[in-house]
Amino acid sequence: MAIESLNPTTGERLATYPEMGPEEIERIVSAAVRAQKSWARTPIAERAVPMRRVGALLKERAKDLAKLMALEMGKPLKDGVAEANKCAWACEHYAEHAAGYLVPRPEPSDASRSYVRFDPLGVVLAVMPWNYPYWQVFRFIAPHLMAGNGGLLKHASNVPQCALSIETLMRDARFPPDLFRTLLIGSKPVRNIILDERIAATTITGSEAAGKSVAAASGESLKPSVLELGGSDPFIVLEDADVDQAAKTAAVARTLNAGQSCICAKRFIVHRAVYGGFLEKLTAAMKAIKVGDPLDPSTDIGPQARGELRDELHAFVTQAIEEGARPVLGCEVPKGPGAFYPVSILADVGRKNVAAREELFGPVAVVLRADSADQAVEIANDSKFGLGASLWTRSDAEVERLVPLIEAGAVFVNGLVKSDPRLPFGGVKTSGYGRELGLEGIRAFVNVKTVWIK
Ligand code: NAP
Repeated sequence: MAIESLNPTTGERLATYPEMGPEEIERIVSAAVRAQKSWARTPIAERAVPMRRVGALLKERAKDLAKLMALEMGKPLKDGVAEANKCAWACEHYAEHAAGYLVPRPEPSDASRSYVRFDPLGVVLAVMPWNYPYWQVFRFIAPHLMAGNGGLLKHASNVPQCALSIETLMRDARFPPDLFRTLLIGSKPVRNIILDERIAATTITGSEAAGKSVAAASGESLKPSVLELGGSDPFIVLEDADVDQAAKTAAVARTLNAGQSCICAKRFIVHRAVYGGFLEKLTAAMKAIKVGDPLDPSTDIGPQARGELRDELHAFVTQAIEEGARPVLGCEVPKGPGAFYPVSILADVGRKNVAAREELFGPVAVVLRADSADQAVEIANDSKFGLGASLWTRSDAEVERLVPLIEAGAVFVNGLVKSDPRLPFGGVKTSGYGRELGLEGIRAFVNVKTVWIK
């Protein structure tokens, strides 16, 4: 199979790469294992040196990387530059703080001295998606290489140029050769790589189906895994919320990355007392978003990343309308080239509607009505997903009461859900398990080693 780079704005083929075969994979795995063994013995302060360098390179090359993202998956240039800079931030953060996150912890026992250490596990396989082609990968690289692990990247098949540019960045930052490598492969060889006993752990960011398959192979070979999967994040607007601000933020939260983010707000659950006003303001804010060529600096959102993903999204929208949702904006496939989808709103969506139950991975807001704060939370939790949630209220008492009840890996109050190198990130239910980032993230792939000294 060949790995193809296609431009979703024009449909043009940009590059084709042959898929790596078993012999090449074997060479890369064995070299990575060797490189990691010596990296594990490298002091953290020394690991920080190339980590800081790659951070600087990400900033230096931000415009070029942004152009690659625009060409391969349709991200507007300004968002691509912001993504590269965020990756640099993660590299700097872990270069600075990994030693603190991993400092041995004394624990009193019957020993004369006992403590807990956090040692590296080995080479980790990272299976990554195309939607944030650099951020998804650097939020893996920064903590886990600082923890002394090595990394093999199986990136999404539609972003091979981004994948190769990450390998180049790591080489140019003078990480030990082979410690981090890109495998240009489809999803089929992944299972055998996971089953290889030299692979210590796996992490995947992607769909539920891919997550299940990586988790199954990881389970079969008894190795830890972190799964960052889909989401249908609720955005709950209570009666006392700042509706103006909520609606403006909602439009951004739904259309980030052309709606193709796991933590985009997807279900807007609005108290009936403010439902009409919110919908009106959301519609005005969504209408102002400019869809267009990602290389044009005035574009807010580009096309969907692949034609068939746009078609899947539209099939959900069509079904949702058949099931009673009211199209308020967009909802029709535009004519012409490119995988474009308009900014869209489905209102008066019922709880059993497909749009309330599945993840709509595109710029389509799904608006539901709630009779009370408690019912809003009940609707929010009535989902197989549990990634992020946004809660809008002016009442501290409601925040204290409702946050513990929300079934999600993160609750952002009066703001949109976002990732941050300092804060753990991940979900519950079918959104996955384990955490990336923060203290919990960097400790996901360490050997928590008890030391007992007489
Ligand atoms: P996807 O099809 O699952 O692809 C993600 C990665 O998994 C790609 O590298 C893909 O490779 C690989 N893959 C697919 N099937 C596989 C299998 N059976 N075994 C091993 N690897 C497999 O996901 P997507 O549609 O590109 O991305 C969108 C999904 O990712 C959404 O559900 C979104 O919510 C989720 N996501 C979650 C997070 C999070 O942090 N929780 C962040 C971003 C995205 P190929 O490209 O070669 O198929």
